[in-house]
Amino acid sequence: MKVYLDAVSTTALDEKVRETYQKLLDEYYCNSDALYDDGVAIYDMQEKSRQLICSMFGVKKDELIFTSGASEANSLAIKGLALKHRDRKHLVTSIYEHSSVYNSFRQLEEDFGFEVTYLNPDEDGHITAEAVKNALRNDTLLVSIMQVNNEIGAVNDIGSIAAIVKKHPGTYFHCDMTQGVGKIGLDLSNIDMASFSAHKIHGLKGSGALIKKEFVQLLPLISGGQQEYSLRGGTSNALVNIVLARTLRIALENREKYHDHLLQLHDRLHDGLKDLVKINYDKGLVTLMNIDTPIPSEVLLNALNERGIMVSSKSTCGSRKNEPNRTLHAMGYDEDHAIRVSFDYTNTIEEIDYFIDNLKEILKQYA
Ligand code: PMP
Repeated sequence: MKVYLDAVSTTALDEKVRETYQKLLDEYYCNSDALYDDGVAIYDMQEKSRQLICSMFGVKKDELIFTSGASEANSLAIKGLALKHRDRKHLVTSIYEHSSVYNSFRQLEEDFGFEVTYLNPDEDGHITAEAVKNALRNDTLLVSIMQVNNEIGAVNDIGSIAAIVKKHPGTYFHCDMTQGVGKIGLDLSNIDMASFSAHKIHGLKGSGALIKKEFVQLLPLISGGQQEYSLRGGTSNALVNIVLARTLRIALENREKYHDHLLQLHDRLHDGLKDLVKINYDKGLVTLMNIDTPIPSEVLLNALNERGIMVSSKSTCGSRKNEPNRTLHAMGYDEDHAIRVSFDYTNTIEEIDYFIDNLKEILKQYA
């Protein structure tokens, strides 16, 4: 039996998304910027997708840039904004952002002379509006805070943070909503830029977008042609962009449909784990739990892997690096014993039970 409990890392492709993509691949190959009929047909479908996605997020049609995923969207938002507005030198983010956000800020700090304030989460795992307010300066250009942390699942009150930043003249607000999209709603009215990725919601890998309000000026990171409002050169991955609207719509439908199922999975997992391990964090995203195990996480991951169970100890983007984990460190958790268990609507109660039973056996074996 194979049990996948790493949905925060990525998700399996939805069957309907796969079918739609396959059909498009079989039929279309032209460049979406070509001016003959077949090119125009693809272009029109891509623009329809853009429009649909924008209406789902309540933004204007031209306020979305298709990207290769959230890492690119985050890099474009942060570096693109900062390099376009070099007169304001101060930036604010949090210490527990995804590496695509954190390393963009590090680069701006180390290579371009910006000053960055890195906020710590409070003891509940949140970046508070108060902390953001206190960090703002007259020369603050950008605040970037994630909606949902990808390692502990903490959900930040983005509405309150965005409202504070909105009142501060000359300061933009960006939100990495990658782990919240399709799971938790987000009102984008006070948010200047927001990033997300398709593969976290059963879409294609290498697909995502940056929502950017029309008044926000960015420096393109990929120079090229007219694609994506001249902010991202290169022949459009149009078929991938076309299926992104469908991916999101299916995710939103499934959010309603599987709401109760996800709560059941959560409760089963929680009941199974509570007497076995220490639970580090379980008060955020319902589909993610961070636990502290009595044996080193690497040993446990291997033992689980041998039994066909896939979980991770930290963000997959940092899994091969030997650097301290910023989130776990900021929360005071023991990173050598932390495990992240995450699931989605495709998981079953039987799979949760299989995980718990095997965990029990492994812990007994190593005790
Ligand atoms: N932000 C967050 C919070 C994430 O969890 C991830 C995925 N690990 C990303 C950004 C990067 O997304 P992508 O893989 O699409 O570049």
